[in-house]
Amino acid sequence: MAEPMSDSNKVENVIIVGGGPAGYTAALYTARANLEPLVFEGFQWGGQLQNTTDVENYPGYPEGIMGPEMMAQFRAQAERFGTRFVTDDVDRVELSDGGVQKVFLGDEEHRAKTVILAMGAEPKRLGIPGEMELGGRGVSTCGVCDGAFFKDQKVIVIGGGDSAMEDSIFISKFASQLDVVTRRDQFRASKIMLDRTREKDNIGFRNPLEPLEFVAGESGKLEKVRFRNVNSGEEEEIAADGAFVAIGHVPKSEIVQGQVQTDEDGYIETEAGSTRTNLGGVFAVGDVVDHTYRQAVTAAGTGCMGALDAERYLRDEEPPVEAHWMPGGEPAEIATGSG
Ligand code: NDP
Repeated sequence: MAEPMSDSNKVENVIIVGGGPAGYTAALYTARANLEPLVFEGFQWGGQLQNTTDVENYPGYPEGIMGPEMMAQFRAQAERFGTRFVTDDVDRVELSDGGVQKVFLGDEEHRAKTVILAMGAEPKRLGIPGEMELGGRGVSTCGVCDGAFFKDQKVIVIGGGDSAMEDSIFISKFASQLDVVTRRDQFRASKIMLDRTREKDNIGFRNPLEPLEFVAGESGKLEKVRFRNVNSGEEEEIAADGAFVAIGHVPKSEIVQGQVQTDEDGYIETEAGSTRTNLGGVFAVGDVVDHTYRQAVTAAGTGCMGALDAERYLRDEEPPVEAHWMPGGEPAEIATGSG
């Protein structure tokens, strides 16, 4: 793995913050454009795909591929063209409208002409008692990671979107009985995912129940979940060995809050049809921008867009191109910048 420059006088062409499909694709494109990108890929590089098993919907893998393996391949492809990686989390940034952008690892300052923000998203929490305390003791946000721990046990999955359905289908391979619990009697999930979930004999549906508390038994592990029936207002309890919270995601935009424009949910706002933020030289790609699609392939697509936007920005920021007369021919354009 190439070591990054820590010379604080050096101004990189491009720094990429994030090591998921968006960040690695931006790295691949900027590396192939000879911009020598420096990627802060995070301590747990690979993004959300690091917590996934089979990826069956990424074009080009007809047999499917494991998420972590796919990320290793994305990374290797970017590395092949000279990308440098820092396997650590960025502590803070100082972004400006044009000029030099600054990214900090502790006190270590890294400077760049452009920054591509690709920090991704993370699972949303309910914010109710017991949720954090019982993490790893029955309560989880990652069905794919933890589903197999609940073999022949009773599990609930909270949420009514595609994430909840996907988790339920996966966990139902292990659990003896699984209840999908939603706070409304409508679902956000797509019809195909809902149909697949309904087909499973060991999956039932409970609603409209609003989660109130995860309750531990004497062993210190989850024993039951308390809910409020939204129609009757009465409390109900469901006994469960495992509870999976699958209620969507929040963008990982903390480090840029107050610097770059975000919407009310914290997603970074970009100009329609581009990856440009409200700050010149700062671009945003992948799930940290996208509330809607949030697929590996769409993240990779916007990563490519971010790289091309950064490349164009750098080209336009370079010293002006002058026309030189070449003997015996037409005027040729020669860039006066360092290239
Ligand atoms: P969604 O926003 O689609 O669904 C979130 C679910 O969680 C809703 O049922 C919502 O209820 C519920 N919820 C949210 N907050 C709470 C709360 N505090 N208490 C109880 N319930 C709550 O998120 P997903 O992560 O499921 O999906 C996001 C996007 O990713 C979608 O576009 C989806 O299609 C896509 N996706 C696709 C997959 C696939 O195709 N294989 C797999 C996973 C995701 P309410 O409706 O009442 O707000």
